[in-house]
Order: sequence, then C-alpha cells, then structure tokens
Amino acid sequence: MHQEDLFKKLTAHCKEYGFIFQSSEIYDGLSAVYDYGQYGAELKNNIVKYWWDAMVLLNDNIVGIDSAIFMHPSVWKASGHVDAFNDPLIDNKDSKKRYRADVLIEEYIDKLEEKISKEVKKAAKRYGDKFDETMFRQTNKRVLDNIELIDSVKKRFIEASEKGDLEGIRQIIIDCKIADPESGSRNWTDVRQFNLMFETRLGSVSEDASKIYLRPETAQGIFVNFMNVQKSGRMKLPFGIAQVGKAFRNEIVARQFIFRMREFEQMEMQFFVRPGNEHEWYEYWKEKRMKWYKALGFDENKFRFHDHVKLAHYAKAAADIEFAFPFGFKEVEGIHSRTDYDLGQHQKFCGRKLQYFDTELNKSYVPYVVETSIGLDRMFLTLLAAAWDEEKIEKDNGAQDQRIVLRLPPSLAPVKLAVFPLVRKDGLPEISQKIRDDLRFDISCQYEEKDSIGRRYRRQDAIGTPFCITVDHQTKEDETVTLRYRDTMKQERVPAGKLREILGEKVSMKKLLQTL
Ligand code: ATP
Repeated sequence: MHQEDLFKKLTAHCKEYGFIFQSSEIYDGLSAVYDYGQYGAELKNNIVKYWWDAMVLLNDNIVGIDSAIFMHPSVWKASGHVDAFNDPLIDNKDSKKRYRADVLIEEYIDKLEEKISKEVKKAAKRYGDKFDETMFRQTNKRVLDNIELIDSVKKRFIEASEKGDLEGIRQIIIDCKIADPESGSRNWTDVRQFNLMFETRLGSVSEDASKIYLRPETAQGIFVNFMNVQKSGRMKLPFGIAQVGKAFRNEIVARQFIFRMREFEQMEMQFFVRPGNEHEWYEYWKEKRMKWYKALGFDENKFRFHDHVKLAHYAKAAADIEFAFPFGFKEVEGIHSRTDYDLGQHQKFCGRKLQYFDTELNKSYVPYVVETSIGLDRMFLTLLAAAWDEEKIEKDNGAQDQRIVLRLPPSLAPVKLAVFPLVRKDGLPEISQKIRDDLRFDISCQYEEKDSIGRRYRRQDAIGTPFCITVDHQTKEDETVTLRYRDTMKQERVPAGKLREILGEKVSMKKLLQTL
C-alpha cells in the first residue's frame, strides 16, 4: 500500500473507532488541536504508565513530579525561550504555503542520503557476495559527490543558524533549488523568525495583568524544582526527575495530524549528574530509551538514531530516536546533553544558589543534565502506525475477506478482553456479565452483545483487543468458553475459571517492564 494512503487510512480509522477527534469538530475544528476519544484516552493512559513505570518504578534514583503549566515569566527569559525559541519560517509566494526553512533544508539532506543508500543497495545487488560496502562508499563518484554536497550544505546551515543569518538560510534554499513540496514552485519570500510560545495574561484587571506563557516544554518545571526535590527527597547525584504534562507551541507548519500539534503532551526526564560524567550518562540513556521502544516487539528496523545537525541553544550533544512513519523517518524522542545551562541560567536570574553539595568531592557545583524527552502524542502515532495491519482472510464459506487489525502489545491495548454472549438470551448475557464483573479489576474488559460474533471480532480487531471470549450454551454445561486470539484468530476452549491465570500474565505491564 502507498504510504500516503496508509496515513490517510490511519487518520480516518482514529476517528471511526473513537481514538482521536478533531478539536471542536462541530465548529469545523481548530487547526492542529485534537481530542482523544474513548479508546484513545485508554491507549494514551497505558503509554504513560509504560513510560512512568520504566522511569520511576524501575529506577530508585528517579522520582516523578507534576508541575504547573503556568510559570513565572522570568523562567522563559532565563531558559532562553523568549529570545531564542524561534523557528525560521518561509512562505512560498505561489502556493501561499508556509514552511519551516530548517525543515526544508533537512529534508533536502535526507533526500541526498536516500540517494546514497539507493546507490549502495543497487551495487550490493549487482556485485553480490563480492560487494565491499566501505570501499564502494569511499570510491564511487556519485556517492562521493553527494557526501560532499551534504557536508557543504550542513556546514553552511550550521554557520547561518549560529549567526542568526536568515538571508544565509534563504540562500541555501535558493542555491539547492529546493522547491515547495506541494506545488514545485521556487518562488520564496524572505526567511523570518517566529517565536513559538503562546502568550496569555495573568490577573483580572487588564492594566495589572502580567504577560505569561503557556509552557512550550515541561522540562523547566523540573529545573525550577530541582532544589525542592533534591532537598525534600534527600536525593544524591546522579538522580532524575520525571514528569508527564501538556506543552504548547504555536507551530508554523501543522499538517501532520497528531505528529505536530499546537497543544500536546510530553514525557520528560531530566537526569542530574556530576560535571564530567555527562557523556557516559548520555550514552546510557540513549541505549536505555531505544530498548524501551524495541521491547514493544515491532520491526526493529523501524527505529533508528539520528544525530542533530543543528544543536539547540542549550545542548552539548543531541540525538533523536526516529520512527519510520508513513511520511518517513521522523523524531519521536530527543535525548539531549544539556550541560549546566538551564540550572546555571536560573541561578543567574533568580539570584539563588541552585547547587549540589557533593560529599565525595567536598564541593558544591551546578549539576549537568541529560534529558530524555518524548512526545506522548507522537508515541501514540508510532504505536498506531507500527500496529496497523490490513490482512486478507478467508471467511468460513471460503470467500475472501479483509480485516483491519491493530497488533498493539497486549499490555498497551485499550481493551484487553472482550466478553461476548453468543446470543442475547438463554441466560448467556448474565453468565458473560458475571465473568466480566469478576475479571474487570485485573483486566480491562468490555462486554458486547450486539451483532454477529464475526462482526464483534472485527470491531475488537480494529481497536486492538488481544483476546475475546464467547459464552455459549456449552458454557452452561461445563463452564468453558471459547477464547479467540487477535493475531492468529485461533480459538480454543478454556475453563472460564482459568481466564485470569491464562490472560493475566499476557496482558500485564509487568511482563513488558521485566524485559527492560
Ligand atoms: P521538532 O523538531 O519535530 O519540532 P523538537 O526537536 O522541537 O521537535 P523537542 O523540543 O525536542 O522537539 O521536544 C521533545 C519531543 O516533544 C519531541 O521529540 C516530540 O516527540 C514532542 N513534540 C515536540 N513538538 C511537538 C508538537 N508540536 N506536537 C507533538 N509533539 C511534539
């Protein structure tokens, strides 16, 4: 299937099955703002739990907090967001579409890299076992030309970004003949800086009201609480503070469903370390975080690291974990070595010491920070895209059919078990409900009695329910039920009394967490 079609189908599926709705849809929606529906909210909660437990439950030296969205305006001055949380925007004069200039350049580089991979693949096919990839990359003219071009574009881009040279950034777009991806036009405006923070006012009387911001990241809520948590929790370095919460950015380009939203959620962890140890911890968290994705059991080739070309104003090193979305490999999480920048800045701006007394070294210092920052909504989209499957199947009468199945890891699925009475009579609903009532404390269950069993299975497949059971007349005789597996569609007869034992382990978060 064409990847664009897949993305369209996924988006439509999210609405049809109650995962995601456009915000304020009855008023024609609000751009790049979305609401989570009945299954979306459950799936989102499960992702949060998987992340929170992997961070806070499994690490003695990580604690979680929940800080406010509104913060003192000085926070954003100190953090650099007021002055530097900008994206360079550029408009196409013909299509009237607006783009991020840095993204256009990064996509151009990605395309060159793709060209290189294609050359390598072609040659590998041609030469078979005799193929020496390193040698090929070092000698093939087309590959070398592209590498040279990539290096020169990257160099110019970094220089222009560092100097804030917007004309320089524009010139790269012109020189590389980068065209509007939608219209193909190269008729560009100047590049302008655009601050992504939303402003609002605190206070009831307009003259007294002071300008504040909706936080563009959750991290600052952690930094400003560093001393509070360290002191009240008697935390010793290295230690981490985690939090999940909303963030807001007035994104320039917001056309990719929940990939880029104006209101979204982040799951961030700031890990405070002794200066000098940051590189070791940076590598540690990169590996740890990648493991978290791979534990989900999807195709591992769909996840990769990508080192940043341009570092954020605070970063010493930064890598993204990217997922192969239907629209290409894109960032889901950033891992950043943030130095002592943030705490150092807050110390300067608030005039108080934000330091740690290291008893081993017998001195105080501002700790360094390694951050892991994942977008909850992007993780949601990652899961849906990875789990989505359209499968051809055969009906009982031999006819061809098709089903859409979300192959979500059972512990993350919004509903773990669906309970069906075969018919709506003969006491079967009552038996089914009793089974559901008994299991619902341990396993998230759904009772469903409408439509044929086949249609009920399809609906559950489409929301990713890993197990269904059907209660029939035989249940009344021997207390067994039919257990049906989502992925294989296999069915087996099992005692109703054993369901907790059979399914409990399979659907538990514990099993997933134990693999980390
Ligand atoms: P991008 O380059 O895609 O704009 P970023 O590098 O600015 O992202 P960070 O500031 O590192 O993103 O934020 C950490 C994480 O928060 C990202 O990896 C992403 O998953 C998520 N995130 C950031 N912006 C958005 C957004 N507008 N909508 C949804 N998730 C977002």
